[in-house]
Amino acid sequence: MPLSVEAIPAFETNYIWAIHNGHDCVLVDPGSSAEPMAFVQRRGLKLCALLLTHHHFDHIGGVDDILARHPVPTWGPKDPRMPQVNQHLAEGDQAQIPELALVFDVLETPGHTTTHIVYHGHDMLLAGDTLFSIGCGRLFEGTPAQMQASLDKLRGLPDQTRVYCAHEYTLDNCRFALQVEPDNPALRERAEQARRLREQDRITLPPTLAEERAANPFLRTREASVIDAANHHQPGTGTAPAAVFGVIRSWKDKA
Ligand SMILES: [Zn+2]
Repeated sequence: MPLSVEAIPAFETNYIWAIHNGHDCVLVDPGSSAEPMAFVQRRGLKLCALLLTHHHFDHIGGVDDILARHPVPTWGPKDPRMPQVNQHLAEGDQAQIPELALVFDVLETPGHTTTHIVYHGHDMLLAGDTLFSIGCGRLFEGTPAQMQASLDKLRGLPDQTRVYCAHEYTLDNCRFALQVEPDNPALRERAEQARRLREQDRITLPPTLAEERAANPFLRTREASVIDAANHHQPGTGTAPAAVFGVIRSWKDKA
């Protein structure tokens, strides 16, 4: 059976991604246990691994409970705040899930948190809270320069890469992005598409990386329109990508 990637909604805006082949299943960032366990049971799937991106409770809150019932390999960064991880990963490492013939390359993406990692492979980017559809994570622990560098890594991935981020934020993100680039046709189209989908209570994910590069202001800090908007918002920002990024990130925090 071919691979399916399904979103399991949790909390207000989270998605727990389930990657499965109709038999074996891996869960990404289970912030709670009830919803993914019900999903696995309902489908008759066998849990074979957990993939974790960072230590925030809405990403790992369900892990202890799941592992108590299904002691599976748990991949993630080395961080004392994530004691459940037993397969530690750093930049350049690979997470391997033989049951699903999956191999993911690991990229370290500090910014949202200091030890955040993402997983890339099979045209999938499991992006956690680093890259969102038309947005990016808040800088809880990192600097604008760190996050800019992290996003630059993701920006370089192939066009067709699907971005599986952890929250349904697209519509709100579009509202802000349109303040930065009101005349970007790709962004206007994404905003319209997100509005239609959310009206029908449907998921807006996963966009492709090509779509994100065309419309996400946080991946566009070298574009004249974004540089101009940042300098208009905060005169004297200049053109350095990290400075432009820092201004639009804090602009959004207050928006
Ligand atoms: Zn987070």
